[in-house]
Amino acid sequence: MEPVSYVERHMVGIHLTYTRVPRGLIIETVYPLAPGESVGCCVTTGTTVHVVNPKGHQIVDLWAFVASDPTEYLSMAHNRTAHYSTRFQAGHVLVSNRFKNLLRFTDDTTDGFHDSFHAACSAQSYALFGSDQQHPNCEDNLQKALHDAGIAIQITPPPWNLFEKSFADEDGLIHDGTTSATAGDYVELYAECDLFMVFSACRSTIGNIQGGNPAGAQILLNRYDNAADSY
Ligand SMILES: [Zn+2]
Repeated sequence: MEPVSYVERHMVGIHLTYTRVPRGLIIETVYPLAPGESVGCCVTTGTTVHVVNPKGHQIVDLWAFVASDPTEYLSMAHNRTAHYSTRFQAGHVLVSNRFKNLLRFTDDTTDGFHDSFHAACSAQSYALFGSDQQHPNCEDNLQKALHDAGIAIQITPPPWNLFEKSFADEDGLIHDGTTSATAGDYVELYAECDLFMVFSACRSTIGNIQGGNPAGAQILLNRYDNAADSY
């Protein structure tokens, strides 16, 4: 997918719904994602990534691979070990499957629910849950993005499912709720090294996790102007 610049999108009259742009932020690239769409992109060290939920009904599966060696990637299990938590919070530095720092979690406007339990949706997962949903799934989206980028890795690491509300109870059972993300909510991440990242706007409606039909997302790659007076 070709990136669309912030200026170009305004020139053609498409209004960005990202309404809470932090001061000092220079938006360099915007990837609008309709439900079921995904994008793979190179994210260089020092880039700030915003994953935006414009309308509040969209879960976004996120993957990050080390650019120089994609067998090293963001791993949910390693982050649960590193942070001794099932939910990662602003202030955490997210690590790889070799405990290398990949992404600094710098800001979160939600109430903090982002799922680290669930596998990506796939043709097999829809079959498992008895759904006949026939639409793009997040696993296929990841594999296509990797293939298009020439990255020869065929595993699908469990993604970090932004805006997905899940929790485990005292008996170890996992429960899903409807996302509590509201329009304009976003997660901000800072790239600690050169990465290839994939973002997939999930189409699943199993369990009403999206609070109705999913409504799309925006991925922004930015840099902060350190000279801005607010920083
Ligand atoms: Zn999905």
